[in-house]
Amino acid sequence: MIFELKQKKDKFLDKAYKDSMKELNDFYGINWTRNTPKIFVVNSREDKAFLKGDMGNGSAGWIVGWTPTTDTVFVMNRLKIKTETSHKKGYTKEQYKYLIKHELSHLFFKILIKGGFRPVWLWEGVAIYTSEQDKFKKRLEEFKQFLSFYDSHMSEDGKTSVYYESGFFVEMLVEKFGKEKFLNFLKSLQKVKNRKEFDKLFFKTYKFKLNYKEINKFYKN
Ligand SMILES: [Zn+2]
Repeated sequence: MIFELKQKKDKFLDKAYKDSMKELNDFYGINWTRNTPKIFVVNSREDKAFLKGDMGNGSAGWIVGWTPTTDTVFVMNRLKIKTETSHKKGYTKEQYKYLIKHELSHLFFKILIKGGFRPVWLWEGVAIYTSEQDKFKKRLEEFKQFLSFYDSHMSEDGKTSVYYESGFFVEMLVEKFGKEKFLNFLKSLQKVKNRKEFDKLFFKTYKFKLNYKEINKFYKN
């Protein structure tokens, strides 16, 4: 398939992009000011299916943004989200701004850990936390599901997803133990090959085990 590209002039998106880059540079301690990421706006489910390489069925219908490379973001056109994805309510302008920031945040994450995005809860949790998307959600009472999203975004029955708890957990790590420790932890993930090694490195860094009992003990204090 052949696509024709043209530059999009949109003040709102330009500002969302600039503000996001500034804030993400600041959070990640990176100075990404040259060859900055490109954002491509996708207008239909057919284009998305082609660009993403899936048919947009099942859980894929919920996807509104993705990052195929280290410097490219694809997002659905905000005004097409209602009809072209499973989000029947669509996105407000504000939610869309945070979506852009979420996707850009994934790119910074890729730079920091140099490839690989396991566990999925960390990959999504950082993007959710840094893009402030948790403010649209009800505060969490306690953690009870995010650890099961090591390799997947959704449970098999489709009832729970990685998106609810993971951002709150990253928030807890950053706010209780500091950003430096967290960024160093991310950087040290480059050499981690599997879940066992991840858990080990986590314990070495944070001095508690990745289970709900331990996590909630810190969360509630
Ligand atoms: Zn994401």
